Amino acid sequence: MENSGSDGRPPFAHQLLKGQKALVTGANSGIGKATAIGLGRVGADVVVNYVAGRDAAEEVVREIESFGVRAYAHEADVSREDEVADMVSRMVGEFGTIDVMVANAGLQRDAALVDMTLEQWQKVLDVNLTGQFLCAREAAKEFMRRGVVPEVSRSAGKIVCMSSVHQIIPWSGHVNYASSKGGVQMLMGTLAQELAPYRIRVNAVAPGAIRTPINRSAWDTPEAEADLLRLIPYRRVGDPEDIANVVAALASDLFDYVVGTTIYVDGGMTLFPGFATGG
Ligand code: NAP
Repeated sequence: MENSGSDGRPPFAHQLLKGQKALVTGANSGIGKATAIGLGRVGADVVVNYVAGRDAAEEVVREIESFGVRAYAHEADVSREDEVADMVSRMVGEFGTIDVMVANAGLQRDAALVDMTLEQWQKVLDVNLTGQFLCAREAAKEFMRRGVVPEVSRSAGKIVCMSSVHQIIPWSGHVNYASSKGGVQMLMGTLAQELAPYRIRVNAVAPGAIRTPINRSAWDTPEAEADLLRLIPYRRVGDPEDIANVVAALASDLFDYVVGTTIYVDGGMTLFPGFATGG
């Protein structure tokens, strides 16, 4: 059955990505894990990328396979050009093509400016920004080669960049991270402009505070969580599934006319909550 709604009708939610092939980077933990599982749940075959934690990646694969779709784990460092190229070419070999690239892998190496080493700066830029460039480039080559297949999707391919509220909120002690996400904002916009004529949609999701290992110290004690909640008008810390749901919708034909947009999924963190009572 046709999934894409090429007649303009939206697909059913449980088969939003039926027949599509998705790759999620950093998919053995946190947001990437929930996203890989979420895409599998709505019908996609999924490549689960990881760099270190193989066992966790294999568990994600098993959970995705329980939905009756295909999945496998692939070890690759997204900051390595050869490894990203090999990862995408293996996927084209095993699944036939790629329809959705979720460039999610990311990390932090925090330090005050005067203590930050060049290595800390470079590592974060390499993974968070160069990694997204490499993944987007390899996916776009395949999207352009294949073009639109109307029975699968109205677009030739979708790239979802995992950004952060820190693409616009400066963050003391994290200049490498905030700069990488500011870079992702312009990477996404420029690629969206360049690739839209090929019917390739590039967008970003910008999470606020989501409960994952990357920011455990910000929520794992009642005091830390109370502090964090002061920054969130909606007064709850986000769950990885909050992001996964948005990525699945954004990658589907329900969002076919959404091009070059960042969707903030942040409980209102970007609403300048300090001004709710002051100013
Ligand atoms: P996480 O649980 O620490 O997961 C990070 C993932 O990235 C892991 O799967 C890790 O794989 C992978 N990774 C790290 N370096 C890699 C590399 N060189 N190549 C391939 N994969 C690599 O963190 P998370 O919170 O889910 O973060 C996911 C994304 O969301 C990041 O881009 C982050 O900046 C963004 N984000 C998170 C929040 C939040 O509140 N959690 C907010 C805004 C934005 P291994 O486990 O194998 O090392």
